[in-house]
Order: sequence, then structure tokens, then C-alpha cells
Amino acid sequence: MTRRPSLGLPPPPPPPTTMGGSHRCDVCGKQLSTKLTLKRHKEQQHLQPLNNAVCSLCHKVFRTLNSLNNHRSIYHRRQK
Ligand SMILES: [Zn+2]
Ligand SMILES: [Zn+2]
Repeated sequence: MTRRPSLGLPPPPPPPTTMGGSHRCDVCGKQLSTKLTLKRHKEQQHLQPLNNAVCSLCHKVFRTLNSLNNHRSIYHRRQK
């Protein structure tokens, strides 16, 4: 008589999400109930105005906040 270890049943697949009437943020994937709340969410959470990444120490302008952080970590490491 041979015994095989029980493998167990695989977990059931998650139920499909209904996309009816929901507005999804294409930046972070957050679901907003209305088009207006989506717009406000993006304005508040993902507002990235151009030329806004300015180094407060030497006033150099960067295209992205990442570039600014990189610059500051390199040129302004010693700050209090
Ligand atoms: Zn978002
Ligand atoms: Zn700087």
C-alpha cells in the first residue's frame, strides 16, 4: 500500500473585479468613485509641475525630483 502526500487543493482564483463606474488612477492604481474625485486625487497626490524641482541651496533647476535628490545627495551632503 503506497501513500502519497496530500498536495492540498490550490486556492481558488480571486473573483474578477467589476470595473463598472469606477475610475482608476493610472499613476498609483487607486480607485476613485467619480471622475471628479479622480481628478482631484491626481492633482493632490501626483501634482508634478514642470521646473518645480529647484535646489533650495544653489537654486539649480532639475527636471525631476529624483534628479534634485541625487544632486543634493552629491553636492550638499554636508548640511545641517
Ligand atoms: Zn493616484
Ligand atoms: Zn544644489
